[in-house]
Amino acid sequence: MVERQLRRRGIDDERVLTAMAEVPRERFVPREVADQAYADRALPIGEGQTISQPWIVARMTALLELEGPERVLEVGTGSGYGAAVLSRCCSHVVSVERIRALGERARDTLADLGYRNVEVRIGNGASGVADRAPFDAIVVTAAAGRAPPQALSDQLTPGGPLVCPVEREGDERLVRIRDRQVEPIAAVRFVPLVEGDA
Ligand code: SAH
Repeated sequence: MVERQLRRRGIDDERVLTAMAEVPRERFVPREVADQAYADRALPIGEGQTISQPWIVARMTALLELEGPERVLEVGTGSGYGAAVLSRCCSHVVSVERIRALGERARDTLADLGYRNVEVRIGNGASGVADRAPFDAIVVTAAAGRAPPQALSDQLTPGGPLVCPVEREGDERLVRIRDRQVEPIAAVRFVPLVEGDA
């Protein structure tokens, strides 16, 4: 996976490549699809949600340009896989999931694997996690409409990156925003960011 799906497609951040090689993706997918855990695509994880394709997880993590000491917020825990990868690249991860069943399962998986620097919160990630802010970087793994919620930008350290899928002219596009500068990255498809309670 690391060679064929990541390095060959331009991921060159060694911290991210090492994390992707180490985190056991099969532990984050349902048993029925465990044999496809390393396939080059998203997979269903229940509750109508998906675990992102390995390349997307690697690309989004690399875009944060983590060096180790950062505190990162992830919106959309899903399986917890993205949070696990992030946790190998920075010092602390707070990840928020609105669907309780998914959040609790992710929390269990992360604890079983011994990832102690990840905190999973259940709730609406669109409002961020005020009592843990500010964050040095934020990644949103669900599509946010035309722009990411203001609360997220408010909880970001000045100059820190916010990586997020947004709607652009009817399409979805991954963007990186730093100091209000929006950098388009790639066309993507994500499940929608849903505001309000699950
Ligand atoms: N990073 C995940 C992929 C998750 S898919 C992984 O590695 O498995 C996106 C997730 O975002 C879904 O689980 C969905 O329930 C969640 N989500 C959608 N809207 C949300 C919101 N407002 N707050 C928190 N989580 C949300």
